[in-house]
Amino acid sequence: MNAPVPKPWIMDIAPYIPGKSRTDDGRKAVKLSSNENPLGTSPAARAAFAAAAGNLERYPDASAVELREALASKYDLDPARIIYGNGSDEVLHLAAGAFAGPGDEIIYVNYGFSVYPIATRRVGAVPVVAPDSDYATDVDAILACVTEKTKVVFIANPNNPTGTYATREEIARLHAGLRSDILLVLDHAYAEYIEGEIDDGGWDLAKSAPNVLVTRTFSKLYGLAAERIGWGYASAEIIEAMHRIRLPFSITIAGTAAAIAALNDTDFVEHTRTHNAAWRRWFNDEIAKLGNAGLRAVPSQANFVLVLFEGELTAEAAYKGLMDAGYIVRWLPGQGLPHGLRITIGTEDETKAVVAILQRLIADARTTAAR
Ligand SMILES: *Cc1c(COP(=O)(O)O)cnc(C)c1O
Repeated sequence: MNAPVPKPWIMDIAPYIPGKSRTDDGRKAVKLSSNENPLGTSPAARAAFAAAAGNLERYPDASAVELREALASKYDLDPARIIYGNGSDEVLHLAAGAFAGPGDEIIYVNYGFSVYPIATRRVGAVPVVAPDSDYATDVDAILACVTEKTKVVFIANPNNPTGTYATREEIARLHAGLRSDILLVLDHAYAEYIEGEIDDGGWDLAKSAPNVLVTRTFSKLYGLAAERIGWGYASAEIIEAMHRIRLPFSITIAGTAAAIAALNDTDFVEHTRTHNAAWRRWFNDEIAKLGNAGLRAVPSQANFVLVLFEGELTAEAAYKGLMDAGYIVRWLPGQGLPHGLRITIGTEDETKAVVAILQRLIADARTTAAR
C-alpha cells in the first residue's frame, strides 16, 4: 500500500532549530540563545495576562479590534490595515502564502532570518539568496537577484543573526529599485533596539507604497515570547489577501491583553532599551579588546551580537566552553556561520560572565597551543 506522499518542496525544508534552554547534558542554563528579554516582562503585562484567566471558555475576538486600536493609536496607523498572527512568524508565512507559489522566487540575504527559507519552500516557491557585504544587507546584490519570477523580498532590519542595520536611505533605495508588483517585507522584530535613528523608513513606506509590509513582534523587547503576538502593517489590498489565509483564532485573549498592557508600559520599554544599549556597547568594547585573539563583533543594532572567531579559539570550542559553564548561546553552522556565535545581551551579571568565560577560554586555548 502506498503511504501519503508529502509535496516534494515540503521535504526540501530544513526543520527550524530553536534555541536551547538546557545544556547538552541536561542541566538548566542561562539562555542567551533566543534573543528574549533578560529583564523579563512588564509587570502590567503580567497582571493583564493573569486577569484574563477568568475567560478561558470564550473564543478570542477573531478581528482583534482592541489590539488593532491600541497599535493604531500608538503608531498613528489605520487600524483596518493591521494584520496580526501567532508571532510575527505567522505574519511572514502569510506574506509568502498570499503572494508566492510554486515556481515563484523569494529573495532574502545570506545570513538572513531562518524562517524565510521555511516560509518560501512551504508554498513551493524558490529561495534566492543575495550575497551579503561583510555580513550586512547589500541592496545592490539584492536588486541584482530580481527576475521576472520574483514575488517577495524579505529583509530583517536589524537582521538576525547578524544584528546589522540598513539605513533609511538604503531601504528607500531598495524599495525604489523593486518593481511595484514585488512585495517588500521589512521585518522589524528588533526595531525598538536601534539607537539614534529609530526608524528605517519602513513605516513611511508601508503607509504610502502599495507593496511594503512592515512586521513587528511582542516577543523580543516586550518580553512576551511565550504568548506569540506578532503583527504587520501594509496597504489594505495586501492585508485583505493575508486575512483570507490566516487561522481565524491565531492570537489568544490573555496574550492580547498582555500585549496591550505591555505597549502602554513605556517605563519598562525605556528601561529595556537603555539596558540593552549600555550592555551591548560594553560587550562590543570587551570583544574588541579580544581582537588579538581573533574575536570580532559584527556591528549590531539588536539585542544580540554576532561574534566571529578567527583565531586560536574556535566558535565551536567557545560554544562548548560557555555551555560547560552554564551559558547557552547560538552556534549556527547550519546557517553558514560555523565561525560565529550569536550571543543575546543578558543581564549585567550574565553579560559580564560571558566575557569572563571567553577570556578564560582564550587563555586556555593559548596554553594548549603553546604546549
Ligand atoms: C524573533 C524574530 C521574529 C519573530 O518572532 P515571533 O516570536 O514569531 O514574533 C521575526 N523575525 C526575526 C528576524 C526574529 O529574529
